[in-house]
Amino acid sequence: MFDDINDLYQQVILDHCKKPRNFHEMPQCSCSAQGFNPLCGDNLKLYLTVDGDVIKAASFVGSGCCICKASASLLTENVKGKTKAEAQQMFERVRDLVTNGKSEGDVGKLAVFAGVYKYPARVKCAILSWHALIGALKGEAAPVSTANEQT
Ligand code: ZN
Repeated sequence: MFDDINDLYQQVILDHCKKPRNFHEMPQCSCSAQGFNPLCGDNLKLYLTVDGDVIKAASFVGSGCCICKASASLLTENVKGKTKAEAQQMFERVRDLVTNGKSEGDVGKLAVFAGVYKYPARVKCAILSWHALIGALKGEAAPVSTANEQT
């Protein structure tokens, strides 16, 4: 059906870009964070409902490029049911993946971003929602901007 694995990855990214999952505001959220990537113009807000140590639900709104939206969409599916520590660990794995093309641990569907490291300008697009996730978990009031991050 697909020529190779890269085509499959592209299909997943396009699907999540066109039909982002959990794409809505969450008025009753426990915490939220704004993320902004001035290099591309990506701008999103991530919402989390946290019960004790466990992320019960995640959603996002905003506008951005396909990589950014697909990454946020996959994030909201991935972190649901994870503890804060597990979500932090996923952030580190995804960061490794998008900057080096490989990760020590299992990243699940996020593996579709394995090719992003070849396009340095898109790395920040892929990681933006993950920075917002960490910002939300830390309860940081200031918006997260990739301009201030080492990636
Ligand atoms: Zn972007």
